[in-house]
Amino acid sequence: MEAGIVGLPNVGKSTLFNALTCSGAAASANYPFCTIEPNEGIVSVPDSRLDTITKYIPPQKIIPAILKLVDIAGIVEGASKGEGLGNKFLSHIREVDAVLQVVRCFEDEDVTHVSGDVNPISDIEVIETELLLADLETLTNALPKAERAARSGDKEAKVRVEVIKRCSAHADEGNLLRTLEFTPDEAKIVRGLGLMTAKPVLYIANVDEDDVPGNGPLVQKVREHAAKVGAEVVPVCAKFEAELSELDEADRAEMLESVGLEEPALGTVARAAYRTLGLQSYFTAGEKEVRGWTIPIGATAPQAAGVIHTDFEKGFIRCEVYTLAALEEYKSEKEIRAAGKLRVEGKEYVMKDGDICHFLFNT
Ligand code: GDP
Repeated sequence: MEAGIVGLPNVGKSTLFNALTCSGAAASANYPFCTIEPNEGIVSVPDSRLDTITKYIPPQKIIPAILKLVDIAGIVEGASKGEGLGNKFLSHIREVDAVLQVVRCFEDEDVTHVSGDVNPISDIEVIETELLLADLETLTNALPKAERAARSGDKEAKVRVEVIKRCSAHADEGNLLRTLEFTPDEAKIVRGLGLMTAKPVLYIANVDEDDVPGNGPLVQKVREHAAKVGAEVVPVCAKFEAELSELDEADRAEMLESVGLEEPALGTVARAAYRTLGLQSYFTAGEKEVRGWTIPIGATAPQAAGVIHTDFEKGFIRCEVYTLAALEEYKSEKEIRAAGKLRVEGKEYVMKDGDICHFLFNT
């Protein structure tokens, strides 16, 4: 899963990116780096269920699910027409699964706001307008090729033409593409085109240090806007998170407690991103490793196995599943089995969030 951090200049994107990637990378010795590229980082998704599992099944290695973050700089008013870094940012956003839009909700006279004053709703509109204009251009450019392919009898291209036209008409009226409904096949085409306003969005309200955990009037405005468009808002103070990420564990816990937070922003952001993307986790647990895996809600057992390796999906026979609650009650897999609480599930089984599984498959 890959999420792109976007927002106007000076809203706190880089501060937040650095804080998230540093705290996330530090949380897992398996990803001992903060960033891959200056603007790309892999973070481990904090999940307290992993801690619970490893209490009963101590492994040699703990591998949490991961989230790739990309800090996408360069969107300013006119970006779609080549202002600022112009179109350079576009190629990055096209590849991500979700857009994390950082919105400035902090006042600070020392930090210039590009349009003069702090107004989160107009900031959101500027960004979304640029993305929409870029999508319109993508659609306009894609149409002739799709039409040519459709004329030569390509069935998928016929659907593509229809999707492109419907999206263009919708976007022409100023509507973001995520407000359109698509069938799974159409959604695949939309993803293939890299249409940015079709991607799910999560608003990150970067609040004032004095407003942690984030209930001030500016955040409320973002919440009202988000409710209208069916999105979620996560309040975060990037500056506070940056300070947190530099502390050792004990000091970090103390600083969090002093403001009434339970964890650094990474956990809240990652969980909200999962919800936004319709994702959930399952776990594999053994002496060698305990590991979290990410799957779409509704994925079947073979599809879940396919996330580990495509051969597991092809050769899927069955899986053995138990719940975290069973592990807490019976303390070991052996006892779960003895109590008859280890379920055997077949190809049709729809995975549940938090399932702990063994897959059996033919190679
Ligand atoms: P970007 O251009 O969106 O990447 O913004 P930066 O992360 O570079 O931040 C721009 C300036 O705003 C820097 O001086 C940050 O220290 C400051 N800043 C970022 N987040 C906060 C915040 O939550 N509160 C305050 N007061 N300043 C912040």
